[in-house]
Amino acid sequence: MNNSKQIAENPGELVDMFSRTISYLRLSLTDRCNLRCVYCMPEDDEHKLQLLQHEELLSFEELLRIVKLVVGMGMNKLRLTGGEPLVRRGVMDFIRSLADIEGLDEIRLTTNGVLLHEKAEGLYDAGIRKLNISLDTMKPERFKKITGSDLFDQVWQGIETAGRLGFDVKINVVAMKGVNDDEFVDFARLAVEKPYQVRFIEFMPVGDHSTWNEASYISSTDLKKRIGRLGKLEQLPGCRMDGPARVYSITADDGSKGKIGFISPISHHFCDTCNRLRLTSAGRLRACLLHDREADLKMLLRGGAGDDEIRALIRQTILDKPKGHTLAEDQLKCSGQMSRIGG
Ligand code: SAM
Ligand code: SF4
Repeated sequence: MNNSKQIAENPGELVDMFSRTISYLRLSLTDRCNLRCVYCMPEDDEHKLQLLQHEELLSFEELLRIVKLVVGMGMNKLRLTGGEPLVRRGVMDFIRSLADIEGLDEIRLTTNGVLLHEKAEGLYDAGIRKLNISLDTMKPERFKKITGSDLFDQVWQGIETAGRLGFDVKINVVAMKGVNDDEFVDFARLAVEKPYQVRFIEFMPVGDHSTWNEASYISSTDLKKRIGRLGKLEQLPGCRMDGPARVYSITADDGSKGKIGFISPISHHFCDTCNRLRLTSAGRLRACLLHDREADLKMLLRGGAGDDEIRALIRQTILDKPKGHTLAEDQLKCSGQMSRIGG
């Protein structure tokens, strides 16, 4: 991957109305997934999933054009997500093409780990070094209940392979009361025993069919109290590269240490330092995960727009980025579909 200095044409284009510099694009490559997590893509007779047709997704050529444009504007970091990014056909060639873009310093990937064992080496060769792998339980039976599939062993194998190859591995755990709260200490222990950072994410009320309810929500503050049973938690000095997570070191009674992150979009939102822009798998620019306003980039692209027009829409979306989300104050839901937005 090219580590050259940024090639921004006008870096001021990326500063929003609240002086935040937007340096990071999250690309949802597909809304499809090989799992059906209850909080993300629940499916039953009443709630049929509305999946995009292939031609509704941006093609890899279209995506490369957008990435080159945003990198030219000064962004230098990209995260691939979904749905499950590794299920999209041709994704490995796409990643290799991304890696050739001058000025793009880092490509990260968020995955459910199902296909990781087979693809990890290719991802490493393409220059990816940081992986976020989602895992909400270490109990195979419970994994099946949460994801609708019995692929726990395969995911675990993927995590171990990634660790062995030298990836920086972060395990994302959505914290859900009554679902996996009896495993929080076990996950903290995993962070001590293995070189993985374990990050607890507050359960968010996203999507019309999500299983979120107030009773299943647990705040990071309560989580910390529970994890404190394993050992001493000490906040590490702020590190921008850790994004929205507040990272702590944990020292177990026998002196061994690990790292735990807390992502608290509800209880301690981090909107004032948010540096992200999202491109949904439907080709819409979204400035905030928890705010439903989107701009239709795909329509512009397919209408034959030139680079200046596309840059202008990106610029406008950045200017329209809300100061923060208001989930705690007014409404307790955002209706976007997580698998389209990409988390
Ligand atoms: N399929 C990949 C995966 O699961 O890692 C990438 C897409 S997934 C939408 C991205 C992240 O969003 C995952 O870590 C997932 O656990 C998290 N997520 C999905 N729905 C959520 C919710 N309602 N609250 C909190 N996190 C959620
Ligand atoms: Fe798929 Fe990830 Fe959503 Fe689970 S959280 S259903 S793995 S996209």
